[in-house]
Amino acid sequence: MTDIRFVMVDKLKEKPDVSKIGFGTHFTDYMFEMDYDEGKGWHDPRIIPYQDIKVSPANTTLHYGQAIFEGCKAYRYKGGKAVVFRAKDHIARLNRSAKILDIPPVDEKLVYEALMKLIDIEKEWIPAGKGQSLYIRPFIFADDPYLGVSVSSSYKLLIILSPVAAYYAHGFAPVKIMVEDTYVRAVRGGLGAAKTPANYAASLHAGLLAHQKGYDQTLWLDGVERKYIGEVGSMNILFKIDNKVVTPELDGTILDGITRRTVLQVAKSWGYEVEERRISTDELIDAYKAGKLEEVFGSGTAAVISPVGELGYDHADIKMVLNGGAIGPFAQKMYDYIDGLHTGEVEDTFGFIDVAGTY
Ligand SMILES: *Cc1c(COP(=O)(O)O)cnc(C)c1O
Repeated sequence: MTDIRFVMVDKLKEKPDVSKIGFGTHFTDYMFEMDYDEGKGWHDPRIIPYQDIKVSPANTTLHYGQAIFEGCKAYRYKGGKAVVFRAKDHIARLNRSAKILDIPPVDEKLVYEALMKLIDIEKEWIPAGKGQSLYIRPFIFADDPYLGVSVSSSYKLLIILSPVAAYYAHGFAPVKIMVEDTYVRAVRGGLGAAKTPANYAASLHAGLLAHQKGYDQTLWLDGVERKYIGEVGSMNILFKIDNKVVTPELDGTILDGITRRTVLQVAKSWGYEVEERRISTDELIDAYKAGKLEEVFGSGTAAVISPVGELGYDHADIKMVLNGGAIGPFAQKMYDYIDGLHTGEVEDTFGFIDVAGTY
């Protein structure tokens, strides 16, 4: 067992009314921090009071973006346990992102131990309301004070925690998505498979334009032909076509979403046929016209399942309305089931749940 240093806060914060604070606005009393320096490796793991961090104005991340992150959640589980959903899968993906950005890999066992310890310390911060959770944001950034373009020789890993309300404050509301065929976000051979800020920087402008047109988010197409479906902002996209669950294959341009995996595993366990493959916009339009595009929904840690009520594709001059703009039965059933896995109402036969402590 590695020694994780602990520095106690002077005074605990007042806990906010989670239903009123939106997403990612409030942070808990503690955070985890660890440093990397060439020659020393990752060192000095510590749980310390949540605080601002100091960086050089020449910090390489600020200028060139060598950084990665994760997002997972802790829940209040039945029987008074504080649990984390698929923690090991998220930490493993952190290392896969690290490889793509040339960031030195972390000891997954150590980061897992640190995360579970931090959640145990902060378990009172896990909100108790329906759909509420404690969002966990691990991230690594390059920390060299150097303006030259090169792989950094020093890094920091932090884990911060933020209590969050149910994503849909007024119940489960379908979103309007715009098929984006002017701007592209990731290409094969690029950074699409990494959870890295660059993918978000590349998405902001198109996202803003989509908002101005009345859409909630954009659906990215492949960066070359702009013909094949990719993913939506911070979610993977799944389709129910002719009673099969179909989603784009992991071709290096989209993220290997943990919720995507969960949905596919659960769908298979329910006996559905599941396909991971290329899906063209033409196929979707044909399926829609034939009445076989039954449901469309996004998957991601933040919203879990995000039903799509409308898929607009301006350049093909078509608006596909799914389930009359209302949530589809499959998406609803999937959301309820995964929500149940989070809280223990559904028995965890998959091994997704890790216990951090009891409250
Ligand atoms: C985080 C993220 C997702 C969703 O992944 P989950 O592991 O399900 O939360 C999808 N796409 C992108 C680009 C992401 O950053």
